[in-house]
Amino acid sequence: MLGEISMRKIIHVDADCFYAALEMRENPALRDVPLAVGGNPDGRGVVATCNYLARQYGVRSAMASANARRLCPNLVFVKPNFNLYKRASEEMREIFAQFSDLIEPASLDEAYLDVSESEQCRGSATLIASQIRQLVYQEIGITVSAGIAPVKFLAKIASDWNKPNGMFTVSPAEVATFCLNLPLTKLPGVGKATSTKLARLGLFNCRDILQCDKDLLVSTFGKYSYSLIQMSEGKDSRLVKPNHARKSISIERTYSADLDNQAALAECLPELMDGLRQRYRNLPKQYTVLKKYVKLKFDNFQHTTMEMTLSQNADPLCFDDFQRLMTVGWCRQKRAVRLMGLGFRLAEGSHSSLQLPLPFPCSGL
Ligand SMILES: [Mg+2]
Repeated sequence: MLGEISMRKIIHVDADCFYAALEMRENPALRDVPLAVGGNPDGRGVVATCNYLARQYGVRSAMASANARRLCPNLVFVKPNFNLYKRASEEMREIFAQFSDLIEPASLDEAYLDVSESEQCRGSATLIASQIRQLVYQEIGITVSAGIAPVKFLAKIASDWNKPNGMFTVSPAEVATFCLNLPLTKLPGVGKATSTKLARLGLFNCRDILQCDKDLLVSTFGKYSYSLIQMSEGKDSRLVKPNHARKSISIERTYSADLDNQAALAECLPELMDGLRQRYRNLPKQYTVLKKYVKLKFDNFQHTTMEMTLSQNADPLCFDDFQRLMTVGWCRQKRAVRLMGLGFRLAEGSHSSLQLPLPFPCSGL
């Protein structure tokens, strides 16, 4: 029986060959060649990421660049451009943030989302994951894979299941069966040394763990044996822990047909306001809205953001303010809009505690 803590809806999102995919997006000449992002093959460089074409030659992350070139003589090397990757990572996070406040980044291109309380897609984590994948592809131009499961480690395993550009769901009802046949090499913490030891004991999948002599397991693996048993039962008590304070909440829509005049934009505003209202209602109490903003992306892919500072006691959800910001934004280019977003910039603390002290005493002025 799975405890209540296990019954979350967790999505693990992981970009496919992230650095390489971004380099391929930036430079079409790199799209159909085996590509490695990493250090110099003539020196002591290491492959950070490679594309799937390079993987066909056996090239892998963390491999010495010189070895990689030996495996694949035509391998094209590019130096990492971390500013590019960081920007894409932030854009990905903005997309995730439309679906949940509980986001735990695991690396630049990987994150866990707890969508248990999300109301989008009728609360279906699988539909949310597929929408996230679509938005990342549309907005950032790269593919991500997703795993959906009631616990973290299974979500992570599931995101790898149909990689690249795929997704896989382990529903609560499927957890037990899925785990029975799961190879132990898929479990976090089982590396080469551990898997060799496990194999020597005749243990290959989770079913073997559940059926084996537990004393033998403890005497061989010590504390880790408890994790092995827990995971074999499909349990993982780790929660999705957001490691940063929220800086904003927002809602965005990419429209299937461009909005080519101000009236069309205005028509879409109420639906977005509803979405933002929902997110605002779910916002933890410690946050205060500092600014409201409207973001527009035009059909030429340029975007613009209009912001206004919120005075104390003002209604953050005032419709007229958003309409005004939208109009100002539209007038900047007066061309068709493919995406509109509304949002709040946030700070932790109450409005009064956030007032900046005046630099000089005001008396005598
Ligand atoms: Mg990845």
